Amino acid sequence: MSFSRRDILKLSGASLATLSLSGCATKEMDVEHPKKDKEFDIVLPKTSAPRVVVVGGGWSGLSLARQLKEEAPQSEVILVEQRFEFVSCPMSNLWLVDKIELEFLTHDYLQGARNGGYRYFQASAYGIDKKAKVLRTTNGDIEYDYLALAPGIEYDYSAWTDDPELIQRLKTEYPAAFMPGSEHITLRNKILNFKGGNFLFTVPKGNYRCLPAPYERACMVADYFKSKGIKAKVILLDENNDITIKEHGFHTAMDELYGEYLEYHPNAQIEEIDLDTKTVVTEFDEFTFDDASFYPRVRGAKLLEKLGFAKDTIYNKKEANIDPLTYEVIGEENIFVSGDARPMGFSKSGNTSNTEAKFVARLIARKINDKPKIPWETPVTLCISLVSIEPERGIFIHSEYAYNKKRGQFEFATPVTDEIWQGKHGQENAQTAYAWAKGMYVDMFGES
Ligand SMILES: Cc1cc2nc3c(=O)[nH]c(=O)nc-3n(C[C@H](O)[C@H](O)[C@H](O)COP(=O)(O)OP(=O)(O)OC[C@H]3O[C@@H](n4cnc5c(N)ncnc54)[C@H](O)[C@@H]3O)c2cc1C
Repeated sequence: MSFSRRDILKLSGASLATLSLSGCATKEMDVEHPKKDKEFDIVLPKTSAPRVVVVGGGWSGLSLARQLKEEAPQSEVILVEQRFEFVSCPMSNLWLVDKIELEFLTHDYLQGARNGGYRYFQASAYGIDKKAKVLRTTNGDIEYDYLALAPGIEYDYSAWTDDPELIQRLKTEYPAAFMPGSEHITLRNKILNFKGGNFLFTVPKGNYRCLPAPYERACMVADYFKSKGIKAKVILLDENNDITIKEHGFHTAMDELYGEYLEYHPNAQIEEIDLDTKTVVTEFDEFTFDDASFYPRVRGAKLLEKLGFAKDTIYNKKEANIDPLTYEVIGEENIFVSGDARPMGFSKSGNTSNTEAKFVARLIARKINDKPKIPWETPVTLCISLVSIEPERGIFIHSEYAYNKKRGQFEFATPVTDEIWQGKHGQENAQTAYAWAKGMYVDMFGES
């Protein structure tokens, strides 16, 4: 293997953490007259500074907002995010099994904005007037010169059912916990209070969010049940024909460490879910469960569809309709989409979103600074998955991307996987996961 753990932080966005703050969103600037049209409820009067409105304070939007202020300090950057605080999905599988504190995952939007020199505006974006260049939000309308959308994903249950009642029950009683918030808390309580029996998880088809995370989660939960002596089994129903990433590492960990605590079923295309009898029917089998978490397919966030910027792709429904090399919405100027809502087949991961967002920030900054365009740069996927809790052991993958002209799509260019989770090596991988996460939080929020 030509790739060392030592290189990880160099390759991840975390290495780019240092920021010299040269502007502040609240600094006094020449205030232009707000749009007079009564149709708008303009908040935050526009100044003479070029304004970039970023929608979505996840891994992509946060990274973009911060990088933009570095590349174009004269710009006014407003981050519109519907949540009140940031909770990280990466590392959350460890919180589900009580290994880390919630505090490690939770971060302050206000402080992130102060440190980054931009403004955090809590609201949900729901519409746009493209001619007037106004974004509509639940807390008022905001004028923009450039719009960067990073709204992430939604769940798509349509491959399983079109029954709205069943979808609501799946969402509320058996949430996937692949978007941060109450879903994670529900799942954590289910795991920590589980008395025994079958705990069922699913892996969807398509380019779902964080390819290794469902396997990591299955290992974490099996380890938890085993270490507590609970007579329980994790049943992992995978709609794919094999583990989708780091397959050697996950297969060996499941076989060597968890035996009767974990059952892995590939090709488990779900045909029927009966929540009353707690039964799942797949093409070849039938499973009963005592508790479960159903991870369905994913699609682009609803906002893109509402704004008319979504299209179906070979991977998922309703992802961003953008030029894959410039991230600009097709047919629109100065409106960009990045992060997990993108249509390209990149791994939907935090590190990918972070490095990609920095490139998009540079693209926007060059427009603001009237500089020539720059060619497409690959995002970097770097992901460490834990396979056991005591001791903590992990496996990692690092990859970049290249465009396959023949197939008309992006593919992994330089996958380097280190699937050795055994011994000291695996323990060092696990420690690297913590270093990576800490570096990324500083990269997105600055020092607290
Ligand atoms: C369990 C789990 C483990 C993971 N582990 C890893 C890992 O180890 N490494 C890794 O690199 N990645 C990991 N990931 C993946 C990573 O979390 C995602 O790829 C990343 O969050 C994508 O960033 P994003 O900004 O596109 O979307 P998000 O982070 O989901 O951010 C989107 C934001 O947009 C906001 N938003 C949406 N619509 C609106 C609207 N209309 N108005 C205002 N705000 C809106 C949302 O509230 C949200 O905050 C993991 C994910 C999960 C679920």
